[in-house]
This record gives sequence, structure tokens and C-alpha cells, in this order.
Amino acid sequence: MTIPDPVQDLLSTATSLAERDNAAWLATADVHKPKIALVTCCDARIQPDEVLGSQPGEVFTIRCLGNHVPFGGNGGERAALEYAIHHLGVRDIVVLGHAKCGAMGAVATQGADVLGGCLSELADLLNTVPREASEEDTVYIDRLARANVKFQAQRLFSLGIDIDAPDELRVHGLFIDLGKANVEHCCQH
Ligand SMILES: [Zn+2]
Repeated sequence: MTIPDPVQDLLSTATSLAERDNAAWLATADVHKPKIALVTCCDARIQPDEVLGSQPGEVFTIRCLGNHVPFGGNGGERAALEYAIHHLGVRDIVVLGHAKCGAMGAVATQGADVLGGCLSELADLLNTVPREASEEDTVYIDRLARANVKFQAQRLFSLGIDIDAPDELRVHGLFIDLGKANVEHCCQH
């Protein structure tokens, strides 16, 4: 019996891509100068270059559950953001949330201590965006996810990252509903 191997399947596709003369991809080999840093969810359906229309090398992507960069601990998300700002010279940060987010669903239905507590800092969000009586799960989860984009965009300034020129830093909030193929601009700071 042959056991399915998704990694081999994916690698075979990657080889095909390498054999193509993908100029945009090859041009990134020696230069890492992204235009923006993107903080978005781990959700496999979110493909940054597809959403933003960007080319390889343009988007420094930080993936974290619920596009949430924790204050505490030694998580790599915060370090990655600091690296993008200090070492890569990024001045525009985009927080991208999405509809039908599993992380938001877990928080909405089980509370902020779910998933080992990695989203516990969302307790404040739950308090400010309570569920309305008779509101369906799917509706509330998307409403919470939209509010979370603004929440995360605002709190990035409070992460304690030492920024040389804070006035130059812009944080944008975007939300995508893949079912509607629609990207909303939620906020800018
Ligand atoms: Zn998600």
C-alpha cells in the first residue's frame, strides 16, 4: 500500500517552479528588502502575495494564531517584528485578519485561555466586544475577528519595541473574507 506523502507532492510542484525562469523569485536571492511587514494568521488559506498582489521578497510575513503578537514570553513573533523594523528598515506594518478564523472561533466559544493560553491577552478584546444575545457563532466570530484587527494594530505600538523613528512607523489593519474575495481596510495608525 502506498502511503500518501503530501510533502513529496508539494516538493514536486516546487521543483517545477524552480525550473521555470521566475524572474521575480530569482531576483530575491541576494537582496532582502521587503516593503512591508505583515502580521497575519497561520491559517493556510491566507496567501499574502495573493491577497496583496505582491511579488516574492516584498512582504516580510509573521504568522501567528489570530494575528496576535503576544506581549510576554520569548515568542519569535515579537523578535521577527523587531528584526523587520531595525534590520530591514520596514516602516509599514500590516495586520491582516480574516473571516472564519479558527483562532477567533476558539476564543469566541471557549474563552481567551484556550489553546494553552497563547491568546490570553485577548481577554480584554472579549470584554469590549461581547457577544450579543441570539447572535450566531459565525456572525460573532467574524465580528470579533474584525475588532481583533484594530485591537492588534493599536497594541503593536505597546509591544516595547525600541523604534528609532516612531513617527515614521505606520500600522495598517486589513480584513479579508475569502468567500467574498474582498479586502477591507479597517484602520491606520
Ligand atoms: Zn485565523
